Amino acid sequence: ILVASLSLTGVAKSAEFFTIGTGGPTGVYFQTGNAICKMLHKSAISAEHGRKKGTAKAYRCTAPSTGGSNYNIGQIVAGEFQFGVAQSDWQYHAVNGSSKWEGKQYSDLRAVFSVHNEPFQIWARKKAKVKDFAGLKGKTVNIGNPGSGQRATMEVVMESFGMKMSDFSLAAELKGSEMAQAICDGKIEAMIYTVGHPAAAVKEAASSCDVQLVSVKGAPIDKLIKDNSFYRVAEVPGGMYAGSPNKTTTFGVGATVITSADVSEKVVYTIVKATFDNFSDFKKLHPAFKNLNEKQMIKDGLSAPLHPGAIKYYKERGW
Ligand code: GLU
Repeated sequence: ILVASLSLTGVAKSAEFFTIGTGGPTGVYFQTGNAICKMLHKSAISAEHGRKKGTAKAYRCTAPSTGGSNYNIGQIVAGEFQFGVAQSDWQYHAVNGSSKWEGKQYSDLRAVFSVHNEPFQIWARKKAKVKDFAGLKGKTVNIGNPGSGQRATMEVVMESFGMKMSDFSLAAELKGSEMAQAICDGKIEAMIYTVGHPAAAVKEAASSCDVQLVSVKGAPIDKLIKDNSFYRVAEVPGGMYAGSPNKTTTFGVGATVITSADVSEKVVYTIVKATFDNFSDFKKLHPAFKNLNEKQMIKDGLSAPLHPGAIKYYKERGW
């Protein structure tokens, strides 16, 4: 069917397929991956208009929902995905073989660009009276699905506060898309999410029941920020979500787009060019992209070396 539809539309004789790993359907990674694919298909169509019908090589890009950062990196290592969105902390650990990636260093990981900021957030039911991170003790908490960035970062934060899984009365492993309903149904009292704003999953919880954002600070967090370049202080502005009128301080990471040294220069160049040639359209696809800045995107939160295909485009633009 696919082959027939390609030849019927005359878009391509030889299409190249690739996959961008994202996150849950109600997060921002899913929007990011799909925005990149959209820009790529848009530029493929305009390129095709300038050529003889059916001669251009078109790219077919898909950005399915996945388990998140570490799942995506794993799929890139396995050669199943060509690209993925991942938190800057997990990009760092994968390329350096540290933390969860100890003994599994992937030196062929390559950076493409960074995207929006992702504050580490605790959302709790108001009646649970959670005032800070330590206040999660004895509560029913969703610590995140294995493979997600929030789950792995939660484990780092727990360690820095000297907390164990057994300190919670329940440590649930629900996916991002399942958390809002669980917290509003009372199955969990708090949920952890490292995600850009505004995320549909958080909006869903904030508008359906009485949840509030809990600040994440203190000496253990100061130390994490001091010791690790990929962490920074972050704030969730007041009024971003229903029921949270005041700004909340936490710490955060950046969302980044990554690939492998095995992916060709041409493919990486093509997606980078499609994104930045159509950057004002790209930024309109999600409010989290509104304040993105090209110069920061090619530098911030990137621990892995830039892929040569990305460097080629950034040089062309004089960046
Ligand atoms: N930061 C989350 C992760 O690494 C995903 C957030 C999102 O889907 O936007 O798994």
